[in-house]
Amino acid sequence: MTPQEIIAKIKEENIRVIDIRYMDFPGTWQHFTVPACEFKESSFEDGFGFDGSSMRAWQNIDNSDMIVVPDPSTVKMDPFFEVPTLAVIGDIHDPITGESYSRDPRNIAKKVERYVKSSGIADTIYVGPEPEFFIFNNVRYASENHAAFYELDSDEGIWNSGRDEMPNTGYKIRHKHGYFPLPPADTYQDMRTEMMLTLEDMGIEMECQHHEVATAGQCEIDLRFASLLEMGDRLAWFKYVLKNVAAKYNQTVTFMPKPLYSDNGTGMHTHLSLWKDGKPLYAGNKYAGLSQEALYAIGGIMKNCKALCAITNPTTNSYKRLVPGFEAPINLAYSSRNRSASIRIPMYSSSPAAKRIEFRTPDPSCNGYLAFSAMTMAMLDGIQNKIDPGDPMDKNIYDLPPEELAEMGSAPASLGEALDALEQDHEFLLKGDVFTKDVIEKWISYKRENEVTPVNSRPHPHEFFLYYDI
Ligand code: GLN
Ligand code: MG
Ligand code: MG
Ligand code: MG
Repeated sequence: MTPQEIIAKIKEENIRVIDIRYMDFPGTWQHFTVPACEFKESSFEDGFGFDGSSMRAWQNIDNSDMIVVPDPSTVKMDPFFEVPTLAVIGDIHDPITGESYSRDPRNIAKKVERYVKSSGIADTIYVGPEPEFFIFNNVRYASENHAAFYELDSDEGIWNSGRDEMPNTGYKIRHKHGYFPLPPADTYQDMRTEMMLTLEDMGIEMECQHHEVATAGQCEIDLRFASLLEMGDRLAWFKYVLKNVAAKYNQTVTFMPKPLYSDNGTGMHTHLSLWKDGKPLYAGNKYAGLSQEALYAIGGIMKNCKALCAITNPTTNSYKRLVPGFEAPINLAYSSRNRSASIRIPMYSSSPAAKRIEFRTPDPSCNGYLAFSAMTMAMLDGIQNKIDPGDPMDKNIYDLPPEELAEMGSAPASLGEALDALEQDHEFLLKGDVFTKDVIEKWISYKRENEVTPVNSRPHPHEFFLYYDI
């Protein structure tokens, strides 16, 4: 819609409030609301002012004025507010220079799309994430964690019902048994369907919803692929819709990568492909029906993977997921059909248009705009520098002898390690001025100061188990 059409719609439909949204630097959606009389055609140029110093890792207090400029292509009716509300996503600009803000994640996503085109390699990046998540009510989350901290076997205990009743009467989904029992074991069907259909009604195309492998409450809803910036916007809506539908059921959704010690964590496998002139660049006659470009793209992801993880797996909790035995990829390897590799080549379809790579390391604690951008820059690095990904790994990596495992690279063991890797390896992100030096430095210092150090310096509950009686 054009700004003119949007203003006409507001009048015709008597929409009285407009909700302005933007993504902050760490990846939380922010909003404020203006009455319709304050929202004019000129707002799409002038924007709305806000305090950039109240945003994490943005402006200093002495230079805090920023504006958010609504993007007319993003308007949607909010599905939850009682007063009909038009929501619009904005871009952050400096009010003095008018320039796009270098630390605005959406701006970074736009720059990648421009850079891909200008590189001549491709004109479209398709992204298809599969976000997983847990649904908990407070009682259940506390009891699961009690079991984890005190090393109780929650499968034998009363912790695992997925419902409120105690004692548990049956139809329990045990740890790692959540893929795919029907109700009454699966108690989340209606909630997931409501989440999926709410998104569909908003024009966000969905592929599938299901319970996921972990105990009761781990679920997955898959988004149909879309171009990079569009998918950044959709993922913001996705998290918002899921959390708010769950709230109606007195439940919470968490995208935390490893909420339960003794069960599978929460990943966000991401399917990626590049296209040029309407043709899929990743289809060819090499391994698993891939093209040479796709193999180089895999090489780029594998080469830069440790640094990439600082953006695709950006929380201290992310690395508690990346441990053996829970279907999370730890070793840097690629393979068709092998779910223990960090990159899988899905073989469900033989159509060239469906040819893509599935990067399995990311998790949904990431900022979608930044994560999709960084993945794309790693693929481009591989293509531009013809990075050979080596031989595919068609065995179960979890069963390999230690000597063979040692030869394979692995994901970082902690956020600290990932940030150290990013400090060393970020040239691939700076191309086309996509991620600036300032963005990389701010990301690293913000994460170290606000997440790595505070987590490391607090006594952990398990330390009491280990050391209290020492
Ligand atoms: N939950 C697993 C992960 O951490 C993935 C499980 C699956 O989708 N097969 O990545
Ligand atoms: Mg899936
Ligand atoms: Mg899954
Ligand atoms: Mg998958």
